[in-house]
Amino acid sequence: MHNLSVNVVGAGITGAMIAYKLARLGFKVTLFDANHCVGGDVSRTSFGWIGHIANDPIDHPELFPLLTDGMARYKTLNAEFDGALFGANNGAIVWRATPEETQDLIDRQRQAGTRTRLMSKQELQDLLPALTNPPEFAAYSEDDVCWYPPKVIEKLVDALTRLGGEVVLNSSVSALDVTDHNCNGIRMNDEVFASDFTVLATGGANGGLIAPYEPDHGLYTSPATYLEISAELPEYTPVLLTPDIEMRSLGLGNFALAEDPPKTNDPAELERMGARLVQAVKDTFTSAGQVELLSIQVGQRPASHSTEPLARPINGFTNAFVAGSHPGVILAPLIAEKICSQITEQALSRSVV
Ligand SMILES: Cc1cc2nc3c(=O)[nH]c(=O)nc-3n(C[C@H](O)[C@H](O)[C@H](O)COP(=O)(O)OP(=O)(O)OC[C@H]3O[C@@H](n4cnc5c(N)ncnc54)[C@H](O)[C@@H]3O)c2cc1C
Repeated sequence: MHNLSVNVVGAGITGAMIAYKLARLGFKVTLFDANHCVGGDVSRTSFGWIGHIANDPIDHPELFPLLTDGMARYKTLNAEFDGALFGANNGAIVWRATPEETQDLIDRQRQAGTRTRLMSKQELQDLLPALTNPPEFAAYSEDDVCWYPPKVIEKLVDALTRLGGEVVLNSSVSALDVTDHNCNGIRMNDEVFASDFTVLATGGANGGLIAPYEPDHGLYTSPATYLEISAELPEYTPVLLTPDIEMRSLGLGNFALAEDPPKTNDPAELERMGARLVQAVKDTFTSAGQVELLSIQVGQRPASHSTEPLARPINGFTNAFVAGSHPGVILAPLIAEKICSQITEQALSRSVV
């Protein structure tokens, strides 16, 4: 594979993971991004939850096994980096609106084979003494982790360059360069960057780039809101998902929250959402003190109408691929493996010919 080149476009979690894994297989990889730094676009506004407990296996029968698969793949990947890719497990605590609903979640998580367990009110109070009104019990998974995707992306890209890969920033790809059904590489204005294989991992931009070859590509974006706040709360390690908030500590008195998208594009609605969540944090914790909204933004999650994680050839090509669909952080290792095996298969068939 050493003489075969791959252009990977997009240095978010999807592209960085694919580029790193291809370089490990011996491909000559160049990673392009329109931004001035790696770290992605929507990957920057991601909650970064790698876990299963937020999803009820009954509500998400197709997705659920992919979540546990993603967790296992990240564990293996972290071992490849001697544990330096992200920190130790910090777990996640979830409670629903009623004890019955929380118990149902625990039961179904356990039936699905996870190590979810009941966390008593006393345990909750010991772990999070600032909780105003802890429930009778919560569901707890010690296997869930949460981390900031751009940091992990930087480490993957560092490893890529150590493996001989190249990174080209400030470079917006305008189109594929195509002759008949062969993709010769990518185009930036009038310049062509040739490669044996091309992978588009451009998040929400994937649909536009493949539209000339696949008008009915079935790709779209789905918005979600990411917020950062500061609060006078002690740091806590588990991710917390309650009927009112999804929140985790970022350290130094800062916290990240994720929320559904606003219903309209009216900026006033986003402001109201920010104020509502600040109040929800104050209500959840007795001693939150001064709670300040630091930032609020709506991220566009790349999504596909297919239930399969997006990792496939672009219609009509055997050497150009498109990758990345929600939940893209947890699915990234699987998507990358799928792309790697298709490219390897094509590469081997070429060497046989
Ligand atoms: C609030 C919120 C919370 C979320 N929480 C989770 C979670 O807990 N767990 C989870 O798994 N997922 C979560 N997601 C979804 C997740 O963030 C995305 O699925 C994932 O980050 C997608 O990564 P990506 O690399 O495909 O896209 P991106 O991060 O958008 O990367 C695409 C890259 O392509 C580049 N690019 C685009 N067009 C071009 C071009 N023409 N030329 C060159 N470069 C280009 C961009 O600059 C960008 O760097 C969340 C999303 C949001 C908004």
